[in-house]
Amino acid sequence: MSKIFTDYQPLNFITITEENALKIESLVKITDGVLWLPEKLNNNFQNSILSSEKKENKLYQYYHTSLAKHLANIWEDSQGIIFCLTLGAVVRLISPLLTNKEQDPAIIVIDPHTKYVISLLGGHQAHGDKLTELIAHQLEAKPIITSASFNLNLPPIDTFGYIFGWEKGHGDWTQVSANIARNQITLIKQDVGLNWWQNSLPSSHSFIFENNTIIDNNNLDNFSSPFLNQKQKNNLPLSIEEKETIINNSSINAMVYIGAKKTPDVNIPCISWHPRVLWVGIGCERDTSPSLIQSAVTKVFHEYNLELKAIASFATINIKSDEVGILALADKWHLPLKTFNSEELKEISVLNPSSIVKKEVGTPSVAEASALKAALSPNLPENQLKSPHLIVPKQIIREEGKKGAVTVAIAQSMLEYNPHDGKLYLIGTGPGSIEYLTSRAKTALREADIIIGYGLYIDLIKSLLRPEQMIEKSKITQEVQRAERAIELAKWGLKVAVISSGDCGIYGMAGLVLEILQNQRWNGKQPLVEVISGITALQSVAAKIGSPLMHDFCAISLSDLLTPWDVIEKRIIAAASADFITAIYNPRSLSRTEQIISTQAIFLQHRNPNTPVAIARSVTRDDENIIITTLAEMLNHPIDMLTTIMIGNSSTKRYHDLLITPRGYLKN
Ligand code: SAH
Repeated sequence: MSKIFTDYQPLNFITITEENALKIESLVKITDGVLWLPEKLNNNFQNSILSSEKKENKLYQYYHTSLAKHLANIWEDSQGIIFCLTLGAVVRLISPLLTNKEQDPAIIVIDPHTKYVISLLGGHQAHGDKLTELIAHQLEAKPIITSASFNLNLPPIDTFGYIFGWEKGHGDWTQVSANIARNQITLIKQDVGLNWWQNSLPSSHSFIFENNTIIDNNNLDNFSSPFLNQKQKNNLPLSIEEKETIINNSSINAMVYIGAKKTPDVNIPCISWHPRVLWVGIGCERDTSPSLIQSAVTKVFHEYNLELKAIASFATINIKSDEVGILALADKWHLPLKTFNSEELKEISVLNPSSIVKKEVGTPSVAEASALKAALSPNLPENQLKSPHLIVPKQIIREEGKKGAVTVAIAQSMLEYNPHDGKLYLIGTGPGSIEYLTSRAKTALREADIIIGYGLYIDLIKSLLRPEQMIEKSKITQEVQRAERAIELAKWGLKVAVISSGDCGIYGMAGLVLEILQNQRWNGKQPLVEVISGITALQSVAAKIGSPLMHDFCAISLSDLLTPWDVIEKRIIAAASADFITAIYNPRSLSRTEQIISTQAIFLQHRNPNTPVAIARSVTRDDENIIITTLAEMLNHPIDMLTTIMIGNSSTKRYHDLLITPRGYLKN
């Protein structure tokens, strides 16, 4: 099954003719969907491809009622419904079933010629726009997406926080989205949470940022350090006059608040996203009434103007892991509960230690210490720089008529908790030109939240990326850091694409990432990993120069940074003496110049000096250069790290600018 489509399940496809079923069946398979067909087609399928095997695999399912009724049956359980039908028919079919944005599935229509994929409904909330794009990629069709933010290249304001695990807050979502779509000035106030998304905004956006300020009063008076993001990029602060003009003219038409407090009460349309940065430590007397625990937490949040949606987790001491009221609240609010033993908790320094508590449970603090301890858990390096802090010290709450007493403390982490299971796509992007990328690689690239790779390779595939995708470029030598970073981000909950040129598993990043995961005792599932193959240098070079690889061949990398030279040398001797056609990767760098000379010398001991050799540089890229020469002459041509050398075997012949190794069919 494809790991690319796991987040969109369950997917139901519907069509009513055999012809259309055949057109989309490979898509259904790739997406792990189900294709629904009318019962009447069950027995009269003409085409032999629609075999019983497929029926058994449940790729095809048949509905026995009218399509309208069938649709009503699968509506609630579908994340997406994809029709291969005329648009008009789909609109009529779905209209009686529509409820609201939060509940309806994504509705996508593929035209019967499979030229267009239309995102009809649920583009944002149900991720229909993104799914439309991915499906269009698979079918090589054109995606039709009409969402305003999509076409402005802005992150969809009502969904973009999901990838970081943020919770949507209250506010006038319709109005704020409309204002943003009309490019009206919108104030973004972000207190907490990752702000990487700000770096990938198009220059035409109309956001004004007020970052990293504590919102203590809920109005715009503390609009103290605003700057236009574009100016900020150019290191130009907004002048006081400009600032005042914006404020005085009241030209701010909408506000997006990203933080742990409640949605600000301002006189312009405002919405909020809540990164989950609050860790609620709870202590209580045994058998404290569940309703007291709930009202205590609610009360503390209310008093401190904090938003319950920003809670990452509850935390307590392990002897309370069976405390009915705490368990009931975690269950009701769908929140995790972290527990720690007294040894772990007593290490944490707190504001209000208590000797009585220490006597009872072996640690001077339960609520404060467990909140702080839990807040250490989101584990990106950014978070480790600043330790979590208590934003609400221990509060003791009792209520008349309710059994028990509760202590509540709240710690804030620097990094938000992200509940998603991340994924790692290890992608080979081929030799250079994007035409040589597999469609699976393209789909995975579109699906990823963040792309990590060497800058040159990212630039080569840039035209394939979504504008709001996050990108981390690194230097060519930083492979280990790159792999570790990718793993960290995926473990934290992002979909991470790590790219290598050619094939990711041939002298590429795939091996390193898997090796590190193995060292970390990875369980094979979290994060999910998919290695997506690419066209490796030897294949693309071979194709450019004809058909040199018709006999047994091998690849040898001359880089002795990680492999000792005597090992490489042994392999060169073996390849040369056994008459393998040989592709030489990493032939020469600025500092590594001797190896290619030794390689030629070894080959000359075993092969005719006239053996055809190709020196192929930057194949399929703009600066592609291919020289056909001989074993004796090969060193008289420029060779560098962007070059692959192909050495023919004893039967390889040059013909015009091609190398042909006869397979043997024409031998008499
Ligand atoms: N994973 C890559 C190989 C990375 S090692 C792959 O599968 O192709 C880097 C070496 O690959 C370079 O030194 C060069 O020998 C070769 N290489 C990569 N891209 C190339 C291209 N477009 N043209 C020629 N050689 C290339």
